[in-house]
Amino acid sequence: MKVLVVNCGSSSLKYQLFDMVDESVLAKGLVERIGLEGSVLTHKPNGKDKVELKADISNHSIAIKMVLDALSNPVHGVIKSMNEIGAVGHRVVHGGEKFSDSVLITPAVLKGIEECVEMAPLHNPPNMLGIAACSEIMPGTPQVAVFDTAFHQTMPKHAFLYGLPYEAYEKYGIRRYGFHGTSHKFVSQRAAELMGQPLKDLRIITCHLGNGASLAAIKYGESIDTSMGFTPLEGLVMGTRSGAIDPAILPFLIKKEGFTPEQIDAYLNKKSGVLGISGVSSDFRDVEDAASHGNERAKLALQVFVYKVRKYIGGYVAALGGVDAIVFTAGLGENSPNERAAICDGLEYLGTRIDPVKNNVRGKEQEISVDGAKVKIYTIPTNEELVIARDTKTIVEA
Ligand code: AMP
Repeated sequence: MKVLVVNCGSSSLKYQLFDMVDESVLAKGLVERIGLEGSVLTHKPNGKDKVELKADISNHSIAIKMVLDALSNPVHGVIKSMNEIGAVGHRVVHGGEKFSDSVLITPAVLKGIEECVEMAPLHNPPNMLGIAACSEIMPGTPQVAVFDTAFHQTMPKHAFLYGLPYEAYEKYGIRRYGFHGTSHKFVSQRAAELMGQPLKDLRIITCHLGNGASLAAIKYGESIDTSMGFTPLEGLVMGTRSGAIDPAILPFLIKKEGFTPEQIDAYLNKKSGVLGISGVSSDFRDVEDAASHGNERAKLALQVFVYKVRKYIGGYVAALGGVDAIVFTAGLGENSPNERAAICDGLEYLGTRIDPVKNNVRGKEQEISVDGAKVKIYTIPTNEELVIARDTKTIVEA
């Protein structure tokens, strides 16, 4: 079966076409600036050159149509017709408490996704546009929704409940949901494979460190805690997000700065984090570079980031009652030996240490702990698209 994986943003659409016989990627690409001037599709067929197709792409339906045309084009295509696509898997950010697993999309499921819009107003609506576009253009092809939140639905109530009046949970569903679920799931499964042990016997801490960043405590294959919360703002200090702060800062800032809800949202989500502390950039590469040239605030931003990750690791060791493996993934986790080493500095009490030679690796799967370490440390490139493709195939075949 060939599975098309679609990840829609408000003005972008990423896709990958998998051949599930060997899980190979036949083609992938990105549509940018949907509904804006200068929209473009960049299409990369496996083994052939990348092509850029400029056109007026005014909505997601046109974008999907262009993607299907590119995939079946006689020159740069990889299939004869769109009928070869057996199913479409969609990344959906928020599934609330309704979805604890991936599901075949039906009208009832669509209604459920719509009911979660309030909790993910920036993400679920474009995800729904992608689903609507595929339903319109490929009406006979089954579609599956794979949720960022679903993997964390195994969290026990004592881990997901906030210390607010219980009515906030009952009335509005205010609780920790967690995100990056497909990534935490993928790298924990992969770590178990690399360790040659069943996932159901392992306690793993997964560190997804990218522009958005979260940790998960995975006990015997199930997420029992994660650092993101009701929204992806909670937890670690991220590229532009503050992570967890004292909630009393909000009314304080409202009084001092006269912020509107939208302004507070932008302050915490777009102007804070590593960018806010360093004043340099949200990109860790720029901040590492500035720090290496003596920029004190860049150094401080990295120290704050690293310290918080280490504190979460310590907390999750307690939550798991020990740990067998720690995994680093996503942009920074896969590519920054320096930050991995800084985070793990001081974890010797767990019976582990990073091997500086093994750790000198970027974008590659590798054990990076010293030989014979009781707790293994890995860097594992994440592959959320593959999780979506696998779930889609499993559900459609069932
Ligand atoms: P992601 O959100 O997973 O795509 O991660 C993107 C982030 O990873 C970027 O903003 C960078 O901060 C970080 N990153 C990517 N490559 C490197 C690198 N070679 N060194 C340090 N950080 C990196």
